[in-house]
Amino acid sequence: AVKKEEYQVLEELGRGRFGTVFRCFHRTSNKFYAAKLIEKRRLLNEDRRCIEMEAKAMSFLSPHPNILQIMDAFEDADSCSIVLELCQPHTLLDRIAAQGPLTEPHAASLLKQLLEAVAHCHAQGLAHRDIKPENILFDEGNKLKLSDFGSAEWLGEGSSMSGVVGTPYYVAPEVIMGREYDEKVDVWSSGVILYAMLAGFPPFYGESAPEIFESVLRANLRFPSLIFSSVSAPAKDLLRKMISRDPSNRISAHQALRHPWILTGALTTA
Ligand code: ADP
Ligand code: MG
Ligand code: MG
Repeated sequence: AVKKEEYQVLEELGRGRFGTVFRCFHRTSNKFYAAKLIEKRRLLNEDRRCIEMEAKAMSFLSPHPNILQIMDAFEDADSCSIVLELCQPHTLLDRIAAQGPLTEPHAASLLKQLLEAVAHCHAQGLAHRDIKPENILFDEGNKLKLSDFGSAEWLGEGSSMSGVVGTPYYVAPEVIMGREYDEKVDVWSSGVILYAMLAGFPPFYGESAPEIFESVLRANLRFPSLIFSSVSAPAKDLLRKMISRDPSNRISAHQALRHPWILTGALTTA
């Protein structure tokens, strides 16, 4: 309980599935951080594992310039707290909602930073499994930070994961099918994010979660000309390679970083 008293909790920054994130002031260092507070009475047993995994995965992956830095984690009788590097209050979701489609160089710069984070996770043997715009933050210098590792899972040797995790618009078809899957699910989600950045809306949608899932399962990737006639061929090529229904044909995060659209910063159009 001593550690908790070192922090003064300030205004709310955001809310998720079990946690509320507050800006906080660390009295001993005179610095501001973000603190994710989770009340234990609202947790099921399996949620506890997620929170432990979240702190463990974040410390394992840090430091990386595009992964949110964890500063500390502690618990008392009533709550678990994770202290994080403080980011701007607006997530990538807010940016897309406010600005609509982003320019190609802007989208390429953001996707490159996201892929650097994802490739690092995969190289370290972890899949994030919940990549979506609400979980993509920006620090004071506007650097992209992948956050929310509460669904992260270790990649087993030769084994693969199962279980439906993620968010309807961003979840890969193999996850919905209930098959075993691997880290390529993160490439799918990152590809869906790229589409949403360029179009202002996600590629697969529906009125309800089951309808969205059906649309994801069909994986019929379309480029409506109203929006996409002005999008370059290399951008569409990368979208097709990332949003490929069959994970074995899907590009890896490492390969995507070497795609011409990323290497040129989207400044050449073909
Ligand atoms: P959950 O696992 O419950 O989804 P998140 O870690 O995604 O929780 O945090 C919920 C929301 O809180 C985020 O979508 C974001 O708006 C805000 N948030 C989280 N971490 C930070 C941070 N370090 N700095 C600023 N805002 C944050
Ligand atoms: Mg979240
Ligand atoms: Mg979470």
